[in-house]
Amino acid sequence: MQPDDFAPGTVWLVGAGPGDPDLLTMKAVRLISRADIVFYDALVSKRVRALIREGTKGVNVGKRSGRHSKDQSAINSMLVGAVRAGKRVVRLKGGDPMVFGRATEEISAIEAAGFRVCVCPGITAASAAAASAGLSLTLRGVARDVRFVTAHSRRDAALDLDWASLARGGSTLAFYMGRDVAGHIARRLIEAGMSGATPVLVTCNASLPDEQRLATRLDLLDLATRALAGSAPTLILVGPAMALAERARSGAMAAEAD
Ligand code: SAH
Repeated sequence: MQPDDFAPGTVWLVGAGPGDPDLLTMKAVRLISRADIVFYDALVSKRVRALIREGTKGVNVGKRSGRHSKDQSAINSMLVGAVRAGKRVVRLKGGDPMVFGRATEEISAIEAAGFRVCVCPGITAASAAAASAGLSLTLRGVARDVRFVTAHSRRDAALDLDWASLARGGSTLAFYMGRDVAGHIARRLIEAGMSGATPVLVTCNASLPDEQRLATRLDLLDLATRALAGSAPTLILVGPAMALAERARSGAMAAEAD
C-alpha cells in the first residue's frame, strides 16, 4: 500500500474474510489500523473487530433479513457522510466484499458523491469452508467449475434460480445464505434431475474456533442443516468434488461429538 492510498476523504471496502483474523490480508490489517472510522457488518467476527484501534470509531451497520433495502441506503448515506467529513473510512465486509456484499451500491453512492473508493479483497466463505475440510472446490475431470449461488430471495419472493442449469452436474455449487432454505434447495435440485446421493458439505462458522462441518448427501441436506446450523452463518457446498474425504469425515465426527 502506498502511503497516499489512504488520504483523508477516501473509502476502502475491505474484505474481513470468514472470521479468523489470521485470514485477513496484510493490507486489510494496515487499512483497519489507519482508519478514522470503521463501519462493519454483523458477519465481521469479534476477533477481527478487535483489530480496530482504540480511539477509532467502530460502527455496527449489521443488517437484519427483510430490512435490506432500507438499511442499505442508510449505510450508503453514513459512508458518504463520513467521507465528506474528511475521514479515512473503512467499510469492513465479511468474506470478500465483491461476493454477495452489495459492494456496487456502496461504490456507486460514494463515487456519485465525488469521493474515491478502493477495494481490498478478502477470503470468501466458500474458500474457507473448502480449506477447512481439505476438499478442493474444483476437481480435474469431475468439477470443472465453481458457482457461487445466492439462496437469498427478496422478502416473500420465491427463490428464483435456474435449477435445471444448477442440477446439470460437473460443478461445485456454493450456496450462500442457504441455511433457512436448505430443504428447498435440495428439493429443487433433485426435481431438476440431480441425484439425491450427490455429496454435500455443510459448514457453519468456517474458520472460527466453533466451526462445525457435516459431510452428507443432497437428500439429507435439510436434516443435516437443521442438526448443525442454529443461527450460525452456514455455507452449503454441493457436488461430486465434495465426495467424502477423510478430513471432512473427521470434521463431521467432531461436530457429532460436540
Ligand atoms: N461476502 C461474503 C458473503 C456474504 S453473504 C463472503 O464472501 O463470504 C453471507 C453468507 O455468507 C452467509 O449467509 C453464509 O452463507 C456465508 N458465510 C459468510 N461467512 C461464513 C462463515 N464463516 N462460515 C460459513 N458461511 C459463511
